Amino acid sequence: MIRMQQPPALAIVSFHSGAGKTTLLEGIIQFLTKMGYRVCAVKHSAHDEIRDSGKDTWRYREAGATASAFLQPSGYLELCTQCANIHSAIDLASHFKPDIVLCEGFKDSDLPKIAIVESSELRLGMQLQGVVALVLNAAIAPVSGVTCLPFDPPVVAAFIESRFLAPRRKVNLTDRYGRRILGIRMSLTQRCNLNCVYCHHEGEGLSSGEMYTDEVLRILRVARDLGMRRVKFTGGEPLLRRDLGGIIAYSCALGLEDVSVTTNGQLLRERALELYEAGLRRLNLSLPSVESDVYRSITGGDLSNVIEGLEAACRLGIHIKINTVVMKGINDSSIDTIVDFARRHSSQLQLIELENLHLDKGFFEKYHVDLSQTEKKLSGATEAVIERGEMNRRRVYIVKGLPIEIVRPMNNPGFCAGCTRMRITSDGKIKPCLMRDDLLFDLLGGIRSGWTDEQLKDLFMSAVSAREPFYR
Ligand code: SAM
Repeated sequence: MIRMQQPPALAIVSFHSGAGKTTLLEGIIQFLTKMGYRVCAVKHSAHDEIRDSGKDTWRYREAGATASAFLQPSGYLELCTQCANIHSAIDLASHFKPDIVLCEGFKDSDLPKIAIVESSELRLGMQLQGVVALVLNAAIAPVSGVTCLPFDPPVVAAFIESRFLAPRRKVNLTDRYGRRILGIRMSLTQRCNLNCVYCHHEGEGLSSGEMYTDEVLRILRVARDLGMRRVKFTGGEPLLRRDLGGIIAYSCALGLEDVSVTTNGQLLRERALELYEAGLRRLNLSLPSVESDVYRSITGGDLSNVIEGLEAACRLGIHIKINTVVMKGINDSSIDTIVDFARRHSSQLQLIELENLHLDKGFFEKYHVDLSQTEKKLSGATEAVIERGEMNRRRVYIVKGLPIEIVRPMNNPGFCAGCTRMRITSDGKIKPCLMRDDLLFDLLGGIRSGWTDEQLKDLFMSAVSAREPFYR
């Protein structure tokens, strides 16, 4: 006997009526069909006498479902498509051959479930059996041990895709120099609320505009489908984008394992909770000085905002790595103060060599510090050295309990050999190397010209093939 392979099925349930199951399901169908999946949707009634009369099942069809149906407890199936020989949900699946069957209701079935809940229901200790994710329609703290998603259809659709629908093409992204590409560093904007004297603007020239949210999400999904596992959002100042929380939630739902942000922290106090609830668990905080007047002279900003932001993020349990670009005569003599500060705030510290990129003429020569002496000093004071498995085994020095890394990119072939990420500029171009302005691949142009995912993946592959170490 040949056994038919059944598509995965999943139920959207709630513990009270009016929670928004139909609206959520409609949105999920729209996003999954936009991604190219065939979806069938079934609405389940708890009572035989209730009729759908095509209302909700039509909404599913209009959202893009290949077929939809209304099912009663007696097994009676009302189909939204004229089709004979369909008497059960199994018939529906075998006839329309969807990639997934999404069901509304079916609370007592043994299907995996996504449950829409409110905080009061959580407190009452509701049954979580078979629940693979909770959709929280109120801003409440995440529940440990269960995936929590916002009431945001693209995020829930991304979660369903990453859990139940295998990406169609998995590629081992390795460049000609044997460097595996593990993630992307994505600039979300060129706008910034500071004006740091040393800023290299992530190597970007004049921007031709920013990406819209759905364009950012599409790129993230394509990168994930290609096997990338990490994303860091940068800018400009990424916290200036109001959709950052949604972008982070979507990245986590995609199954990306390492989602982080680099920020100047000016807006962190206001946004830390929202970003935490979206799934952010670590960030890099740019802090060139912990003396307010020096900080202001380097960045033009107010140090107290950063410290309040740092404290708010720490209280939530977001892990913080402080980034300090070291400059001669400006902050190089106060490294010990920054080390003490980082230790008191239970962070990690990264001392970064000034890179000669997008700087005024003469600035680099005047302020550049060779950090090899600092590294030597640290290695003398360290109680342990940990080698990171990636980044060409970059060393982490543990000094009185504080992990410190020294980042020395300039003229350093070892640094380039350990590079495992590609950049995406704020205007949607793949930039394989920070230092190169002449090597760009226009992903956003492709998206706006209606390219398929496969075409976008091919562009990524071309960018990977063109990658080469800047210093070798
Ligand atoms: N506004 C955000 C922030 O301040 O983190 C993101 C953008 S900023 C360009 C990202 C990182 O680049 C910061 O951590 C900063 O330390 C680093 N950076 C900027 N200019 C640099 C330079 N010339 N050399 C080395 N690192 C630099």
